Amino acid sequence: MPRGALADALARLDPAVAAALREAARRARLVHDAQVPAERVTVVADGSSVTERYVPVARAGVYVPGGLVAYPSSVVMNVVPAQAAGVGQIALASPPQAANGGLPHPSVLAACELLGVTEVHAAGGAQAIAMLGYGTGECAAVDTITGPGNVYVAAAKRLLRGVVGTDAEAGPTEVAIVADGGADAEFVAADLVAQAEHDPLAACLLITTDPGLADRVDAELTSQVATARHAGRVKEALTGQSACVLVGGIDAALAVADAWAPEHLEIQAAGAEDLAGRVRNAGAIFVGPFAPVSLGDYLAGSNHVLPTGGTARHSGGLSVLTFLRGIHVVNCTAPALAAVAPHIDALGGAEDLAAHVRAVRVRFPAGVTRGTGRADGAGAAGGAHGAGVAGGAGAAPPLRADLVGRRPYGAPQIDVPVRLNTNENPFPPPVALVRAIAEAAAAQAALLNRYPDRDAVGLRRDLAGYLGRGLKPEQVWAANGSNEIIQQLLQAFGGPGREALGFEPSYSMHPIIARTTSTRWIGRSREAGFGIDADRAVAAIAELRPDLVFLTSPNNPTGTAVPLAVIERICAAAPGMVVVDEAYAEFARDRDATALALLPRYPRLVVVRTMSKAFALAGARVGYLAADRGVVDALQVVRLPYHLSALTQAAARAALARTGELLAAVSAIRAGRDELSGWLRARGLSVADSDANFVLFGTFADRRAVWQGLVDRGVLIREVGPPGWLRVTIGTPREMDEFRAALEEVLRPGDTA
Ligand code: PMP
Repeated sequence: MPRGALADALARLDPAVAAALREAARRARLVHDAQVPAERVTVVADGSSVTERYVPVARAGVYVPGGLVAYPSSVVMNVVPAQAAGVGQIALASPPQAANGGLPHPSVLAACELLGVTEVHAAGGAQAIAMLGYGTGECAAVDTITGPGNVYVAAAKRLLRGVVGTDAEAGPTEVAIVADGGADAEFVAADLVAQAEHDPLAACLLITTDPGLADRVDAELTSQVATARHAGRVKEALTGQSACVLVGGIDAALAVADAWAPEHLEIQAAGAEDLAGRVRNAGAIFVGPFAPVSLGDYLAGSNHVLPTGGTARHSGGLSVLTFLRGIHVVNCTAPALAAVAPHIDALGGAEDLAAHVRAVRVRFPAGVTRGTGRADGAGAAGGAHGAGVAGGAGAAPPLRADLVGRRPYGAPQIDVPVRLNTNENPFPPPVALVRAIAEAAAAQAALLNRYPDRDAVGLRRDLAGYLGRGLKPEQVWAANGSNEIIQQLLQAFGGPGREALGFEPSYSMHPIIARTTSTRWIGRSREAGFGIDADRAVAAIAELRPDLVFLTSPNNPTGTAVPLAVIERICAAAPGMVVVDEAYAEFARDRDATALALLPRYPRLVVVRTMSKAFALAGARVGYLAADRGVVDALQVVRLPYHLSALTQAAARAALARTGELLAAVSAIRAGRDELSGWLRARGLSVADSDANFVLFGTFADRRAVWQGLVDRGVLIREVGPPGWLRVTIGTPREMDEFRAALEEVLRPGDTA
């Protein structure tokens, strides 16, 4: 199109028509913007998801007919959904008109200008569709062609199907009007004439239950057709492929409409809305006496490019989906792929597609995945065919699918002189305690033919006494380390179909135990300084409604304490259990800021503690919790009988009898921590604020090199936490001297990131 022709056309357009087109476009935009589907992520299994993304075609061709009648409204109906879908380029073709100097109809050009379409071709009929589909020197080929047209246009689009995308076939137009005796004959006749006005091939069907109405409509038609502006083609259409169908009842009327599957279906009968709900096949349905097809043609906001010729049985009208493709984006982690590898073995084997099987097996070293252990799929194929290969030499045992490929948790146990990698207490139990434990153990040794106290009553009484705050033994529960406490909590309150939320980085056993108990873990990230923002945490809880929330305070591996006010807001917001892991509580600068204080107000709060750290009893494996007694009662269902050995109970009670002496060492550790933090900061390193018996520091461009350099010098710390950070447990003063000396040797300028 010559430049400027579009703007000229709009300038000359009747202002009333321009205003109408603007309003039509505004309404259509509302409807079509609402059609754009949201991106959806479906998690099919742990680590395996499919995202449905809707991506617009790059270039769309829009055909606007203009043979017998010019259709600026069709510009709106095609261009608005393409734009709503986000199509990059729109090429529009409309027949040249002699009366307009070989350009398309000025109203079509004006509509293009109004909608911001700049690429307009004066081409009509089948040849315009060929131009859009194959491309010419002046018009690059498009990806999808839409728009209504006559039989030739429809035939050309059908021929091009497969070369380009097309919308539903919009051939000669049609209407079916389902009307009962109450319908207004004048309205019905007017709508039939309006449809017939499009095309001598238009098909207009009146389906009525009332012979009287049929007669009244006939009479109306006689007068309305006589005075119609396009009386010639109206008469041709109404006397040609049009009809009045008399039916015995409204159900039969709907059956006729469904069988014909009209482009437009008007329902002018009692209970029109309900009847509309029962229609299966129609391009668009117009409900009641005041929703005529003419409204839909221009201003309803609905699309008027609709399926004709019975194609409404399988297709809908033009929409944003015509210009979008749903693309599945498949994500899968190694363990998730490993988990389904046996199924791929089976299906690939059954379809004799051994390379398919290999393409998965090649990703896993032998024995990592479950199944036959054969990389060529032959074993699985045998299984699928009924031979039942049950694994041969070296076959991996049939591990639960979601655990396949997982590695055992644990820090490297390397035998070096200074071990500062597992947050143990560096001071061995005092001699008096060692002796007391030995005596208590000896006393129990004589009774080992009997099972221990299943309810650990004495130990729980001592633990309640240690915690104070009026806690009763019934509110305390003990197990083999706080890890076992956490496992029991997840067994009782988590499990299949349930979810636990945690704020990371944090103690990595929480998600691991969640997985082994088949609880879905949701990790949300902590803030920049490793704290938890109460508002964000509460919002996440409101969104996710988790069955359990895990808070670690002081946190491992960052050392960060969560303020009591934040814990309280989370307790108030959480619909399920809140587990506060206080493994390092005794090392906190403010030891009164413990969640124990909240227990009287929150019956679903659980405070988990351990004797592994402050009590220097990691080797004895004693962890415990304090909570409402209902929580303790619930855990009885999942605990193993006699889970806590008599020796363990005796050792723990001996230690609890010497609390004062043990906790003195804790002050020394706290002082060592603060001293080390200052020392590291003085060397320009970042140090996370620690309320625990360790310090997270960094950040290093290559933390592995720093870690290895320390190991080479006999000092073992932990490569854990966010990238670039390292964690060191506070050791004895001598150990800290060795750590500092080794680090000074290892650190070179430029090491920090
Ligand atoms: N919770 C946290 C935060 C921990 O860091 C640890 C041990 N590193 C534990 C629980 C488990 O301790 P235990 O099983 O020895 O009681």
